[in-house]
Amino acid sequence: MKGFLHIVRTYIKPYKGKAFLNIGFNLLGVIFSLASMILIGPFLQVLFGNQEIISDPIPWAWTKAAIQHNFSYQVGQIIVEKGEQAALLAISILVVIMFFMKTANIYLANFFMAPIRNGVVRDIRDKVYKKIIDLPIGFFTEEKKGDVMARVTQDVQEIEWSIMASLEKFFRDPLNIIIFLIGLFLISPVLTLFVLILLPLSALLIGTIGKNLRKTSSRSQEQMGGLMAFLEESLSGLRIIKAFNAQKSMEEGFQIRNEAYTRTMNQITRKRYLASPLSEFLGAIVIVVLLAYGGNMVLSGQGGLSASSFIAYIAIFSQLLTPAKSFSTAFYHMQKGLASLDRINEILLTENSILEINEPHVIQSFTDKIEFNNVGFTYGDKSVLKGINLKIKKGACIALIGRSGAGKSTLVDLLPRFYDVVSGEIYIDNQNIRDLSIHSLRNLIGYVHQDSLLFNDTFTRNIAFGDMNPDVARVQKAAQMAFAENFIIQTSNGYESYIGDRGSKLSGGQRQRISLARALYLDPEILILDEATSALDTESERLVQEALKQVRKNRTTIIVAHRLSTIQQADQIYVFREGEIVEKGTHEELMKNNGEYLKLYQENGQEKSE
Ligand code: ADP
Repeated sequence: MKGFLHIVRTYIKPYKGKAFLNIGFNLLGVIFSLASMILIGPFLQVLFGNQEIISDPIPWAWTKAAIQHNFSYQVGQIIVEKGEQAALLAISILVVIMFFMKTANIYLANFFMAPIRNGVVRDIRDKVYKKIIDLPIGFFTEEKKGDVMARVTQDVQEIEWSIMASLEKFFRDPLNIIIFLIGLFLISPVLTLFVLILLPLSALLIGTIGKNLRKTSSRSQEQMGGLMAFLEESLSGLRIIKAFNAQKSMEEGFQIRNEAYTRTMNQITRKRYLASPLSEFLGAIVIVVLLAYGGNMVLSGQGGLSASSFIAYIAIFSQLLTPAKSFSTAFYHMQKGLASLDRINEILLTENSILEINEPHVIQSFTDKIEFNNVGFTYGDKSVLKGINLKIKKGACIALIGRSGAGKSTLVDLLPRFYDVVSGEIYIDNQNIRDLSIHSLRNLIGYVHQDSLLFNDTFTRNIAFGDMNPDVARVQKAAQMAFAENFIIQTSNGYESYIGDRGSKLSGGQRQRISLARALYLDPEILILDEATSALDTESERLVQEALKQVRKNRTTIIVAHRLSTIQQADQIYVFREGEIVEKGTHEELMKNNGEYLKLYQENGQEKSE
């Protein structure tokens, strides 16, 4: 029940109006339904010829006695004036009207439930997406991506199917049960006492199994997460799987996970199937007890229960079983869905570790320098950067080089605060970047990565990425600066051509130039080029180099490279080894030093000649 209340409080609150309408119409529906059942009593009374003929009505009031008396008076009048068959027909027509009112009201209730059901699922999806986009890069390791995907797709769907599908029952069934119980109580308080003792006992039994179901459900969703992660990895590694003839071993890996999931699902499905026979059996026991006890009451004439009222009582009671059963099934479903909600909440409640201070400073531009002061960084326990000191004058171009894994990319990721430093500080114009608004800080920086990461959209929207109203002139200027315009205008729709999934319709060099144009669109003061040319062939590299030379003017540039040809004109080169700066200077100075740089230079030369 706690989980249900959590959903109501968190997600259904915005739909308060509709929820009240739903409850209101349901209430009317249930009342009409009860009325139609109660009419069985008078019908049988007429049929058995037991209807008393009452000569005078009493003043109208909302009491059982007044309603019963006046109704009997009306039926009696019809019998006197038109005969018993006419009375039966009149009652039947009344039943039809009541049924119509019941179904119409329940439809109206559901009409207002539809936007709640679908809206809540939409809200959850939106919320999770927003959170994912917001969480720091460090949250998503490769293994976690599959799990997050599973949570966003599978778990949200599970909520849609289990919780939302049960929601209408949660809103309707309790009303049904209460109103029907009131009806039963009005007919025979004594008999109803039995029902009140037996029903909670059954509810307790069903609740215990439900709790257990939630645990198993949570395990099944975890296994589904593993399955999705495996699938995702297989899809992206398809080329390697085929090349290494690893289909068999991958198939086996998949089968093992699939089998484990199926086994858990079997347990869940069996427990779920148990809900229905369990409540049916419990219901049957209650009915038999009622029949025995109530039958006795009728025969002995105790409690003023007539045979026709007793039959109406049993008829209403049998109708009570349906919502009680559907409520217990809904309860099961709810438990299964709550396991998924827990998993989604784990993401929603993850705190973003990259925080802004209160009233952060909005930085528009910088005038003097960027400074890394004794910066250290670790991934978990693994120390990646140690005691890094760097000063970058405005307008300068610096290069970071070193072997793969030396920590260069990590260092440049610290500047836009993709990660936060573990020790030391980073300053822009003597302001700690932790005191700056993250949005304004990132606005200063243009970022070109080795993997150009384009989106399946037009050239214009890829270049003006993040700008909801792209400025066409600026898009063109950025494309020209990045030497990209030539090939863009040769495509069938020019700037409005789609570039395919991740830019699959373009060559590596073209993709890289679009990614450069994207970085230039905002005319950033700082440009970070992280291995921007490393994956290119010589011709593409030459073009991108040419473009880079142009755009470096009037900008502060940080280049990460392992090809040394890229960086010879840099004002200052920093050589990295295992997270530390081991050498710095211009190309000429470093060549003379006879140290790490020269070694890398010679290795590089060999690579080229190979
Ligand atoms: P470079 O750019 O010089 O090749 P990186 O900065 O990418 O080096 O990586 C530095 C070290 O940090 C490497 O040993 C790498 O394995 C490790 N590393 C990089 N990213 C992560 C991560 N997300 N989690 C854990 N370790 C990482």
